[in-house]
Amino acid sequence: MKGLPLFPATLAGSLPKPSWLAEPEKLWAPWKLEGEQLQEGQRDAVRLALDMQEKGGLDVVSDGEQTRKHFVNGYMEKLEGIDFANLKTVRIRNRYDANVPRVVGPVVRPKPVHSEDVKFLRAATTKKIKFTLPGPMTMVDTLYDEHYGSREKLAMAFAGILNQEARELAALGVDVIQFDEPAFNVYFDEVREWGVAALEKARAGLTCMTAVHICYGYGIEANIKWKETLGDEWRQYEQTFPLLAKSSIDQVSLECANSHVPLELMGLLQGKDVLVGCIDVASTRVETPEDVANVIRAALKYVPKDRLYPCTNCGLVPLSRDVARAKLKALGDGAALMRKEMV
Ligand code: ZN
Repeated sequence: MKGLPLFPATLAGSLPKPSWLAEPEKLWAPWKLEGEQLQEGQRDAVRLALDMQEKGGLDVVSDGEQTRKHFVNGYMEKLEGIDFANLKTVRIRNRYDANVPRVVGPVVRPKPVHSEDVKFLRAATTKKIKFTLPGPMTMVDTLYDEHYGSREKLAMAFAGILNQEARELAALGVDVIQFDEPAFNVYFDEVREWGVAALEKARAGLTCMTAVHICYGYGIEANIKWKETLGDEWRQYEQTFPLLAKSSIDQVSLECANSHVPLELMGLLQGKDVLVGCIDVASTRVETPEDVANVIRAALKYVPKDRLYPCTNCGLVPLSRDVARAKLKALGDGAALMRKEMV
């Protein structure tokens, strides 16, 4: 991306919310404010999230997802055809049960969802901005379908909606649209059969950069337990990266710090920017800048230096704000350290 330093630091997306806005260190935490107060509170929270990122030395910033309760439902609850009143308990990501909404009719976006958020974000910072949207497959995997009868058909319907949204956000000055697809690390046959095609449909015709984020999830218990079953080498990315290398997606965000992902798998992403996870989101231990620099040094064996973006493994929403702030600062400082080293 033009206008960025070497090793531009960025984040996967979410940041903790202030305790006056939502209960801290909790996923899907309900809002503490309502109506106009909620809107004003969310905007104040975006300002604080930007401050945390800018003081941390990040180069591509986000709104920290301060206007969304959850990275998937926050979008889906704005659509028609989905019933959020009567939830159903289903197994998601093939590993844990969640109460999810039901698809009861054709999914329709009655009006733009994030345009006002992006206008506010664009005006609030001079940095490059990233906006995250859920990916089509992950949306399908976070609800119960009673209407389409096919995960592929539903994904393609979502992809059309996301594409409309993404085009509007790009026109409002977003530099990177990122689709979050943790489901890509679970359903490999579907990724091959229609997952990447749905992603391509979501990004079709976009003039801004596009990214996909694929991770091993937030540091919640179900994910930590799942990771323990994956063995010494996590080779899940080996299935998806060759497909993404052939796709029109520009950037791939992956988990790396403190994980068992063999680093050579990044070599499968030739021609793409690689957002290397240098910050572990499943631990409250704050990395040192040198820890971050070590991950970057290791990744440089497989990723050209002008394609490497130091990033977080995943969203930081389940952490405390103090820990998140310190981790972002370590990320920014580690990237700066490497910039000096490369001169
Ligand atoms: Zn993630």
